[in-house]
Amino acid sequence: EQEETKNFIETKIEADNRQQVYGERVHTRFPPEPNGYLHIGHAKSICLNFGIAQKYGGITNLRFDDTNPSKEDVEYVNSIKEDVRWLGFTWDDRMFYASDYFPALYAYAVKLIRAGKAYVDDLSGEEIHAYRGTFNEPGKESPYRNRSIEENVRLFAEMKEGKYGDGEKVLRAKIDMASPNLNMRDPVLYRILHAKHHRTGTTWCIYPMYDFAHPVSDAIERITHSICTLEFEAHRPLYNWVLEEWEDPEGQKPQQIEFARLNVTHMITSKRKLRALVENGIVSGWDDPRMPTISGIRRRGYTPAAIRDFCARIGVAKADSVVDIALLEYCIRQDLKYKAPRIMAVIDPIKVVITDYPEHKTEVLTADNNQENEAMGTRQITFSREVYIERQDFMEEPVKKFFRLAPGREVRLKYAYIIKCEDVIKDGDGNIIEIHCTHDPESKSGSGAHADRKVKGTLHWVNAADAVDIETRVYDYLTRDAAEDEGKDFMSQINPDSLQVYHSKAERYIQQFRAGDSFQFLRQGYFVMDPDTTPDHPVVNRTVGLRDTWAK
Ligand code: ATP
Ligand code: MG
Ligand code: MG
Repeated sequence: EQEETKNFIETKIEADNRQQVYGERVHTRFPPEPNGYLHIGHAKSICLNFGIAQKYGGITNLRFDDTNPSKEDVEYVNSIKEDVRWLGFTWDDRMFYASDYFPALYAYAVKLIRAGKAYVDDLSGEEIHAYRGTFNEPGKESPYRNRSIEENVRLFAEMKEGKYGDGEKVLRAKIDMASPNLNMRDPVLYRILHAKHHRTGTTWCIYPMYDFAHPVSDAIERITHSICTLEFEAHRPLYNWVLEEWEDPEGQKPQQIEFARLNVTHMITSKRKLRALVENGIVSGWDDPRMPTISGIRRRGYTPAAIRDFCARIGVAKADSVVDIALLEYCIRQDLKYKAPRIMAVIDPIKVVITDYPEHKTEVLTADNNQENEAMGTRQITFSREVYIERQDFMEEPVKKFFRLAPGREVRLKYAYIIKCEDVIKDGDGNIIEIHCTHDPESKSGSGAHADRKVKGTLHWVNAADAVDIETRVYDYLTRDAAEDEGKDFMSQINPDSLQVYHSKAERYIQQFRAGDSFQFLRQGYFVMDPDTTPDHPVVNRTVGLRDTWAK
């Protein structure tokens, strides 16, 4: 039996189960803020939270962390639901909004005030920041810190009723202005914001801060393990402090556990930066196939299984690192290898005329649907006097090690004949417009007397008379450099040549595919039908090339 390796979160959960910390409950949550589309980093968090609950017979809540009204929108809520579902996870009736807890959060804040643990402060934001001190010096207490409980209760109620303008007052935790942890120097719990919330409208003009709303939301939902990224490690004492007055029916409190956020080479994982790409028209939208968003990756042709496999392979670490995008590409190739049909398409076509082939003849040939998976069967393709081959598969003056078509040279057309280049036809500007070849009639694949005659190159091709015009979108990385240089403006690191559009020719079989279907173009890579496709104009995206650069 194979020994299963456990990550540190699983080890912790098993220890908690042994000690019956939560009985044997395992209850996680995925808490996105609906202020943008989810990206590959969120996929990691989704797989982790839902995956770990599945493993231990637990459950996972989908919670919209919508406590910051200005940037949130229902468009994002809908896209997040779609993305989580697409990844293969379900929340049943466990979908919540932190905004549903506004009354409970308010009541709990009042409880903290009554316990002498929170106060209303009149200092401005800048003053609070200045009073906070630095790592080297203790902070300074606010002159409003010692207001009476009654006064604090009254002022907080007045804040809620809208008596004050934005920033005039805040509610702060009363902890320790000399704490070595800056997060514990009387952090702000509530601020005044006269803004319209996407769900609660103008009912509220005070909004809880993340460090207050998050632990209380976790406690309300009776979350056991609240998994978040490493940057919140220094907030954990505050998370625990906030819940000191919390009364749980079984005396259980959620615990925060941090793991390293996912970084991937060539992938931007900041919603702020991704939004800038959308707003500046650098990409066509949040679901542009170049985007590292889940919706972009999906449109690019990645499958949920490939993403889940990727998240499983990178594991869960406690230290930040950068994962090579080649691993993600490896995962999609692995997933599609045996299940994607393989057809022929010529991305950048040039016409080949087989001058010694009868003009009105058409042959029907048999092609494998997947050379590595016989069960996928065969299909029929047609061959005649004029075919297209890839412009790149011909060189008038071949360089060393170029084994494809060149003047006087022979290649095999896959499933068909060996052809020999006899002549190159050019237009007035010297551009090649046609290649004239002859063929060896005995070389037909499978049946000819020369069927096994060896030539150095085998090319894919499409019968000109039977070809379907398609648009092919070939992508390069959005960022040129593998890693972002934080010192530079990120816009200056964007690759201006990340999209190449080709007018291509595909075999007729491509008409069977619908938006979202994946297939391989022989020798070219994996592709997917794009939703821009119309009956007259198929559009395909290159998901990934065939060459694997992942060092196993
Ligand atoms: P961004 O900084 O891009 O805005 P965020 O962390 O603010 O991301 P949230 O919507 O708050 O976005 O994230 C929801 C959950 O996803 C959080 O628990 C967060 O820790 C997790 N998450 C976000 N980015 C990553 C990442 N790169 N790797 C792993 N988990 C992530
Ligand atoms: Mg966040
Ligand atoms: Mg953020």
